[in-house]
Amino acid sequence: MPPRDPPATELLGAASTEQVHVGVALDLPLRRLFTYRVPPELAARAGVGHRVVVPFRGKPRIGFVVERHDAPPLARILDVAEAPDAEPLLTPELLALGRFVARYYGSSLGEALGAMVPRAVRHKGRGRRQVRVRAGPEAPREVEDLADLTPAQRRVLRRLLPEPDGLVLADLLAAASVSRSPVTSLEKRGLVTLEDERVDPDPLGAEAAARPTPDTPPTLTPPQQAAVQSLCDALDAGEAATFLLHGVTGSGKTEVYLRALAHAREQGRQAIVLVPEIALTPQTVRRFRRRFEHVAVLHSGMTESARAHAWQRVRQGEVDVVIGPRSAVFAPLPRLGLVIVDEEQEGSFKQQVTPRYHARDVALVRARDTGAVVVLGSATPSLETWHNAERGRWTTLVLPERVAGRSRPDVRIVDLGDPDERPPGRDHVGRTLFAHLQEALADKGQAILFHNRRGYATSVACPRCGHVLACSHCSVSLTYHRSGHSAICHLCGHGERLPPACPECALPTMDFHGLGTQTIEEELARRLPDARVERMDSDTMTRRGSHESVLERFGRGEIDVLLGTQMIAKGLDFPNVLLVGVVAADTLLALPDFRSAERTFDLLAQVAGRAGRGERGGRVVIQTRRPDHAAIRLAADEDMAAFAERELADRKLFGYPPHRRLLRVLVRARDEARADEHAQLARDALVAGAVNTTQILGPAAPLRAKIQGWHRRHVLVKATDHREIGRLLDVLRSLPRPPKGIEIAWDVDPLSLV
Ligand code: ADP
Ligand code: ZN
Repeated sequence: MPPRDPPATELLGAASTEQVHVGVALDLPLRRLFTYRVPPELAARAGVGHRVVVPFRGKPRIGFVVERHDAPPLARILDVAEAPDAEPLLTPELLALGRFVARYYGSSLGEALGAMVPRAVRHKGRGRRQVRVRAGPEAPREVEDLADLTPAQRRVLRRLLPEPDGLVLADLLAAASVSRSPVTSLEKRGLVTLEDERVDPDPLGAEAAARPTPDTPPTLTPPQQAAVQSLCDALDAGEAATFLLHGVTGSGKTEVYLRALAHAREQGRQAIVLVPEIALTPQTVRRFRRRFEHVAVLHSGMTESARAHAWQRVRQGEVDVVIGPRSAVFAPLPRLGLVIVDEEQEGSFKQQVTPRYHARDVALVRARDTGAVVVLGSATPSLETWHNAERGRWTTLVLPERVAGRSRPDVRIVDLGDPDERPPGRDHVGRTLFAHLQEALADKGQAILFHNRRGYATSVACPRCGHVLACSHCSVSLTYHRSGHSAICHLCGHGERLPPACPECALPTMDFHGLGTQTIEEELARRLPDARVERMDSDTMTRRGSHESVLERFGRGEIDVLLGTQMIAKGLDFPNVLLVGVVAADTLLALPDFRSAERTFDLLAQVAGRAGRGERGGRVVIQTRRPDHAAIRLAADEDMAAFAERELADRKLFGYPPHRRLLRVLVRARDEARADEHAQLARDALVAGAVNTTQILGPAAPLRAKIQGWHRRHVLVKATDHREIGRLLDVLRSLPRPPKGIEIAWDVDPLSLV
């Protein structure tokens, strides 16, 4: 009797029937996960939360393992090529947060995780531990010299032999489009060699800078004391809780944050402080570093290595306080206890590329899931936040007065329509503002002048035919810049020399309209020749660090008048500023957007708050042609309650947030008709999928109907709740991918509709 065949399992060995497979999320707009096999030698380094490098469509790509399972061997499955880290980068907590971001904002999980981990960290360490493959001692001169190779092995050798330095394994696998196993077989025969390569991890980054001298905390004012007490109680309770800290400018909100942070630290818990991009200055950071030893900054302006280093320190639990702009909400602190969102109404907390998340809203979810306390701080809260606090969902803490007996500045609204006010000739600083400017300078004080348009003239037009110089790639007029005598597009940066004559009718002269910071700078130089004026806008602040150096000089009193855009509107705390002037408040209102009144109110209240921070008090002059507009009038009084009441009523009437939830679908195409067509397709799909209380508007051309040669169309969805938005996101995500040259994107809770 012939011997019986042994059962298959015995032949292969029990272990080899089951293989470890992982589901990998790739940073691509693809809904599904991709399955790879984990080679046994990488098993310990490719668990859930680990970063891996996998071959994908012929290229090595970085992804995250999000699930892991044993499975019988599959025929056509590729291997994980590299697993660079001994420890997972993502904890289960962050992975869950990533799932939330993907679901809520309608991105892929890979895109969400990609936004959570800084590029520097994601791409790093492929250097730290990468495998290099070289031709081995037994390698033939020609692949054809060996007859017994599989096709995959042949492809590997064909790629490798011409490379004297060999190839990084992941690149080789991708180039040859093979899994790892042919390489392993070749290694066994001595045809290739594999070698671990180590690249030095980054030496200490910027964090090593000396710590500033610790300060002595001031005695709290009674309202500060009460706010701190509530926050400490909430921290002691150890449960998630949300607070709105509504404090007028200069009321000492930061001191409240510092005390709450100290309390969290005493509990052995850690904290995140989110600040608007523009407020992340050394001045801000210093305030925190004076109080706490272990502070890390996470900011995209840092060098990649400094950022990666800081991120790793955070992950290892060596940091008590993380400060950063929106992406810091994902800081991998192991024991999160407190999240502070300073100036929570700021637009920079919303990311403008997929996933278009709002850091404040993500912070609320993260805190809820980890039992952390959230403080939303602002002098001018967003209407969403105000509404939530008003309905009692959150606890409001109020700081009604400025600290140290400093009174609010005296704010005056000046009507530019008044002939007595009108500045001489073509000037822009009116009589009252100019008089106060002279007075402040005579008193050895400083002044801040705010204007939110840069350049010299915001449009150039022909006085005869009315032709306006416009960008050839975008649907906006060009701004004239004095330097270089050029007309520049503020959307795409396209620039051209000013034509000597009207391109339409050849009239040899063009008129300048609309006021920019350069015009005001010129006017000040002429009318106040002795004053030291410095202009601060994105044209002058082009080098890293130039922002800080101007502010330091201003702080030392080496600049008399600081003139600038949004950049100077917020956060600055200089006691010698006796005057703040707003040159033209109306330009803020001009934008046709549902948030323009809210933005105007916010900016004016904030700018005004820069004055009177010292013992000598201060004054604010707001020039406008619409002195009765509620946003301007109420900002002058910093009367948030009255403004919110009016504005919320308007929002209700027109069906905008916080009464409605918005979803904006953006279609862009090189070809205008195709943009229309695909926006219509999106609309039809949405209409078919929506419930009948949902409004679907458009498709329409937004204000910026064309940017960089792309024609844009949008469809706006107004729904009564987020569940409906979630359903419609599924509809959008199941649409077939548009052909090349056409793109579709969506924005949940958009901040603006331009
Ligand atoms: P906000 O963040 O509300 O605009 P800040 O925290 O910047 O206000 O405080 C304004 C100024 O008042 C800062 O210079 C700060 O050091 C100071 N300050 C804050 N709290 C106190 C206090 N209790 N006593 C004295 N000075 C204080
Ligand atoms: Zn342009």
